Amino acid sequence: MSDFTPTEHTQVKRLPKRGKYDRETVHAILDAAFVCHVGFSVEGQPYVIPTNYGRSGDTVYLHGSAASRMLRTLSEGVPVCVTVTLVDGLVLARSAFHHSVNYRSVVMLGAARLVEDPAEKMEALRLFTEHVMKGRWNEVRWPTEQEMKATTVLALPLEEVSAKVRTGGPVDDEADYTLPVWAGVLPLEMVPKEPIADPQRKADQPLPAYIKNYSR
Ligand SMILES: Cc1cc2nc3c(=O)[nH]c(=O)nc-3n(C[C@H](O)[C@H](O)[C@H](O)COP(=O)(O)OP(=O)(O)OC[C@H]3O[C@@H](n4cnc5c(N)ncnc54)[C@H](O)[C@@H]3O)c2cc1C
Repeated sequence: MSDFTPTEHTQVKRLPKRGKYDRETVHAILDAAFVCHVGFSVEGQPYVIPTNYGRSGDTVYLHGSAASRMLRTLSEGVPVCVTVTLVDGLVLARSAFHHSVNYRSVVMLGAARLVEDPAEKMEALRLFTEHVMKGRWNEVRWPTEQEMKATTVLALPLEEVSAKVRTGGPVDDEADYTLPVWAGVLPLEMVPKEPIADPQRKADQPLPAYIKNYSR
């Protein structure tokens, strides 16, 4: 897989060796996460809105109510910045200054396109659902024409993209290694808990394997 080209906007400046531009890394981070933060400006006021997304190749799909300001604004093709963050651990150094976080993140810049073709729109909703929970789409009722009308789907091409990844333990000042302070990494992970069945269920459906074995 080829690399994205760093631009004046996406060149990582602080600790540039943590910057990654290869598609494999970018795609893997986008596939591991499912929440992004969408930054855009309306009349000089910046907003950063959390939302879900799906990915197909070099396209990220966003969706929501057709009445949503975020989606209405973005469908006009205004500049947008979409950020995805995964926190992998707390890096506990011997000094306050050198504390850090192990993370994987992606920043995407560009302009979104309104998805109007009904087949692409339905496929984007499938991808979106499967991105959050693989196996769900084939079990649930698919969107009706009315529901499709009430839903806006946007496509953001992955063009101006950077990833940044921090791994490993603390990097302390030489003189601090003798300090009597515990140092290391507290790994963090998102893990599913016991599923809670909806009390309004009409029949006792068995818990699907894709929920029982859910992991990201
Ligand atoms: C994990 C997660 C996933 C989500 N997934 C989706 C999705 O896939 N599609 C979707 O349409 N929406 C999603 N949302 C909701 C989304 O964040 C917005 O609330 C929603 O899109 C409504 O947007 P709007 O244009 O009506 O709000 P706006 O008109 O943009 O919001 C007006 C004001 O309301 C406040 N506001 C709006 N949303 C939030 C928020 N989430 N938290 C705090 N304040 C807020 C802000 O002050 C904002 O300026 C998700 C939220 C979260 C946290």
